[in-house]
Amino acid sequence: MSGILVIAEHRQGEIRPATFELVTAATGLKEQSDGTVMVAVIGKEPDRYVEDLGVRGVDEIITVQVDQDEFQPDIYEACVRGLIEDKKPSLVLIPHSVDAWGYAPALGAGGEYGFSTDVFGIRYEDGELVATRAAYKEKVYMDVDFPGKETIALTVRGGVFKPEEEKAEPTVSSFNCPEVQARSQHKQFIEPEDTGDIDITQSEFLLSIGRGISEESNVEQFEELADAVGATLGCSRPIADSGWLPKSRQVGQSGKTVSNCKLYIAMGISGSVQHQAGMKHVENIIAVNTDPEASIFSIAKYGIVADIFDIAEELPGHFE
Ligand SMILES: Cc1cc2nc3c(=O)[nH]c(=O)nc-3n(C[C@H](O)[C@H](O)[C@H](O)COP(=O)(O)OP(=O)(O)OC[C@H]3O[C@@H](n4cnc5c(N)ncnc54)[C@H](O)[C@@H]3O)c2cc1C
Repeated sequence: MSGILVIAEHRQGEIRPATFELVTAATGLKEQSDGTVMVAVIGKEPDRYVEDLGVRGVDEIITVQVDQDEFQPDIYEACVRGLIEDKKPSLVLIPHSVDAWGYAPALGAGGEYGFSTDVFGIRYEDGELVATRAAYKEKVYMDVDFPGKETIALTVRGGVFKPEEEKAEPTVSSFNCPEVQARSQHKQFIEPEDTGDIDITQSEFLLSIGRGISEESNVEQFEELADAVGATLGCSRPIADSGWLPKSRQVGQSGKTVSNCKLYIAMGISGSVQHQAGMKHVENIIAVNTDPEASIFSIAKYGIVADIFDIAEELPGHFE
């Protein structure tokens, strides 16, 4: 058993960014896994995705032609099982998404493979794979090992690895999915209702507020501040839960992952693991907090131990 198999995810004709995050994860583990990085794409016309999937780190793209392009759990389960039997990878990486929830647990249920979900850390220790995930509603982190398992399948949390973007030309092969009776059928996509609000996942510059703003009447000041510096206003969960900003502005595990963000200013946010889940990948994080021990400082590039209201007054002058 050797090599890493990434299962590509696509929707409405486009490869989902999580796929490229898994390529980065796989590339980092390639040496220790003693093999190649393969990316399998399952769809009606899988060849149409080949060009997009040609990125650095991928050695081989495997196209798997099936009857429908839309995700269907029985088909994915059968194809991934077939791929594991044929390619014998030591590691299978699957985006931890609503699609994965539909079939990945079935891979683990049989007990043939090592299995863990919502993983955000993967490493080898003395040649053995160790995956890190959270438990008890993110209150603890735990390392999971998989003694005696030749193939390990993991679903990997989004936003943890930086998506690989550099183009390359891997080899392309095809694979025939075993026969399978699909027990459900895709009918149609229904777009979520347009709330008219901004999609914070597309923003390159976010200024997020947390409980440090103290009360609802202070939101306006930070809305104006975000406008003045050209940022999109985001928030931590308590702010959305209180209805001070719409839920669509919430960053974190039960909110959004700000995948396109390049600069993130966290104002009065402590930096819980749940908040970090949506933003810790951002390269430039600036945190403002009165508590020098706040966890947010452990991931911030620049930390300011100060009152956010003082900084709010100073900040616009630095963005002119
Ligand atoms: C299953 C689950 C999912 C969750 N999902 C999310 C999620 O998606 N996103 C999310 O954010 N949270 C999420 N949470 C909640 C999370 O655990 C924290 O409770 C939350 O992130 C805390 O928000 P906060 O940092 O704004 O508030 P706090 O933790 O209360 O932090 C406020 C910070 O402001 C600082 N501060 C106070 N006054 C000032 C001032 N004047 N100037 C400067 N600093 C000041 C304080 O020192 C403190 O560090 C989730 C929790 C669970 C259990």
